[in-house]
Parts: sequence; C-alpha cells; structure tokens
Amino acid sequence: MRSLKKLSAEAQDPSATQHLWHPFADMSRVAGDELIVDRGEGVWVFDTEGRRYLDASAGLWYCNVGHGREALAEAAMSQMKRLAAYQTFDRFANRPALDLAERLARLAPMNNAAVFFTNGGSDAIDTGAKITRRYWSQRGEPQRDIIVSREGAYHGVNGYGTSLSGIAPNRAGWGSLAGGAEQIPRDDVDALERVLDGNSGRVAAVIGEPIQGAAGVYPPSRGYWGAVQALCRDHGVLVIVDEVVTGFGRVGSWFAAERYEIDADLILVAKGLSSGYLPIGAVIAAPRVTQVLWTPQAGAFRHGYTYSGHPTACAVALANLDIIEGEGLLGRVRELEPILARELGALAGHRIVREVRTAGLLGGVELSGEAITADPGVVERVVAGARERGVLVRGLVGRAIQVSPPLIVEPAQLAQIATTLRAALDEAAESVLGTTTPLAV
Ligand code: PLP
Repeated sequence: MRSLKKLSAEAQDPSATQHLWHPFADMSRVAGDELIVDRGEGVWVFDTEGRRYLDASAGLWYCNVGHGREALAEAAMSQMKRLAAYQTFDRFANRPALDLAERLARLAPMNNAAVFFTNGGSDAIDTGAKITRRYWSQRGEPQRDIIVSREGAYHGVNGYGTSLSGIAPNRAGWGSLAGGAEQIPRDDVDALERVLDGNSGRVAAVIGEPIQGAAGVYPPSRGYWGAVQALCRDHGVLVIVDEVVTGFGRVGSWFAAERYEIDADLILVAKGLSSGYLPIGAVIAAPRVTQVLWTPQAGAFRHGYTYSGHPTACAVALANLDIIEGEGLLGRVRELEPILARELGALAGHRIVREVRTAGLLGGVELSGEAITADPGVVERVVAGARERGVLVRGLVGRAIQVSPPLIVEPAQLAQIATTLRAALDEAAESVLGTTTPLAV
C-alpha cells in the first residue's frame, strides 16, 4: 500500500503518477490525458475503451502496409527462434542483413549501392552527416564541413539532425549544436547558388526531403530538384536525400528520388522500410562514397550501432518489402494519388483553410493565418475534432494537418477522412471565428 505521504505528493505533482515521458509532448498537459492505443488492424487502430479510429497518419508516417500483418509477426517469430539478434561490427554478418542490403541496393535509384543500417531515421541522418565529413577529410578537403539544409526541414533529433533542422523551435534551447549547418529557403535555387559560391570549397553536401513532411507537406516546385542536382554537380558537392517519410511507396515509387529524378549520393531511409513493425533505418550510399571510404587508407569507419543490421528487424523489413511488392502497393498509390488530391483538395475553399498540398499519399491541409492568429491552438482543435469523430490526423508545426494513411487505404476511406476533416474544420471555424453564415430569409 502506498504511504499517506506518497499519496499527498501525488495529488500535488502529476509526475508522481505519470511515469511514461512522451516524446514531443508538453507533459504538464499530457499527463493523465493519454490516448492508449491497444491494437491495430489494416487502416484501423483501437483504444483500450474499444473505440475505433481510422489511422489517417499511419502513426508517424510509417505504417505503409497497415496494421496487424501476420506475415510480419511470423517473420519476426521465425527469425527470433533462429537468431534474434547479433551484431554486425567488423566482419560479423547475418543472412537477413545481407539479404536486405542486397535488396535495397537493387531497389535504390543508384548503381551498386552499399547499405549502412541504423535504428531509425535520426540515426540515418547523423550517420549520413558523419559519412559526409569523413568522405571529404579522406579526399584531403577537411575544410568542406558545411551541410546545407532547407527551412522547414525535419532531419530527426540527434546531434547533426538537430543542427540541420529547419524548424526553428526544434533547434532552440539545447546550447551549442554541431557546426557547419547552413540554411536556405525551401524552394530557392538562387539561394543555394549564393551559398555554394559564397563558401567556395567549404560546402560538403546539400540535404533535403524530396517532399518536406513535418513542415506541413511541401512538394517541390517543378524543376527544383533538377536545378539543385545540377548546381551540386557543378560544385562537386554531395547530394543527400532524406527519404525517411517518402520512401517505400508513399509517393508511388520505391523512392521519391525516382519521381523527381534525383541522382543522390546518399539516401536516408527508415519508417516505411519496416512499416514501423520494428525500428530500423539505413543509409544507402553510392559508389562515389564507398570508393573513397572502403580503402586501406581510410581504415575503419569508427561509427555504428549495437543494433545495426539487427537480424530480426531486417527479416521483418524484408517481409514488409515482399508485401509492398506482392500487393502492388506502388501502383495502388499512383491510382489513389488523384483521389486523395480531389478529396482533400475540396477542403481548399473552406474558410479557415489557406492551402491544401498533396503528392502520392501525402497531404497537408494548411489553416489560414486569420484562424491561427485568432487561436494559435486551432490546428490542435481540428485534430481533436477529427479524433472525436474517429479519424486520427496530426498537427504539423501549428499550421497544417498531416494526412498520410497506410497505402492499403480504400477510396471510400479517403472520402471519410476528408468529410471528417470538414466537420472538424467547421466546428473549429465556428469556435475560433464565430458564425458568419448569413441567416436564411
Ligand atoms: N527524417 C524525416 C524526413 C522525418 O520525417 C523523420 C521523422 O519523422 C526523421 C528523419 C527521423 O526519424 P526517426 O523519428 O525514426 O528518428
């Protein structure tokens, strides 16, 4: 039994009874107000009260093949029974890690790629940044230590990823960060040219999400990536694409780099690689990089994670790729793309919506400046309104709503997402701006 002293402390301090510290949360508000997700099936998740929600964000953009796939549970079980975990440092390997590396090398839009496994996206970004630094020091140009990222960028939360973040609040309040991060506006090729010219011989790489996700879902303007690519080639700079959100079918191809014809030196992946069934990410590297770093002169690459190439995570990722391939999910996304664009696009005329942006099965519904000024919490109101109506969406940087359902979603469910969002938007508009609908006479 808990002592009286302990009980009275709990009454004053929510942290005395709340032991799970949530990521990206204001715990003073979340403590005691959790949504406890209990099980998942297809596009649906269920809470512990038995309420059903359409998972219109696929968790955090990861659950590409949908929830509750037995094949993935079986892949994990059979690998765990054989060899649950073994490290891959130095000369150790395991069959699933070798097979997954070979499969990713085959799928990636580059010839003869090499794959470095990580635990997730943030690790992939930091690994990519360290590969970049090492590449240039090995090439005898250690002064090339600037990585250029873009405003609005989300590159995870580790050391380098935090410095490269283009979402200012994610960069603030941590003290000094990894140096050499330069930021340019999202879709501005001239700004990139100025940074490359102004830092002659000092820029190591340019990193970008082919379609920015966390910033509010921003597809690139026409020709943007081609122009970036050309500038980077002219200046000898590496091109790093962060495909943590866009990889594995989200935009109707294995990689968004194919859609935008980006000839990357490093591709960073996670999320959809295993559909989130187990944590895994990777850096896919072009021969330009390995030719420099896999040499006796370069020696050991002193970086890696205990769980790099984790056999069970790799086995699950392989089974996940089998589902994406076997069920033709890339083609399915290409068919669904115009339907999502139409359904969400219909919200563009709503009085508190500024803009709707879509690409593949990614959508961002940005609210109007007027509504956000009237209530800075309006996005969260819409998210809560949708949740009460049985649809899970997420707020992005207090401005937009994320729609990124599992790739198995049905057209009728895309319509349901849009109808539910409209009802939640109506409700939020009324409470934030008041009723302006003229009375019928
Ligand atoms: N890169 C992008 C584009 C992301 O959206 C995310 C996560 O949302 C990450 C990296 C970080 O991945 P993780 O949360 O697996 O560390």
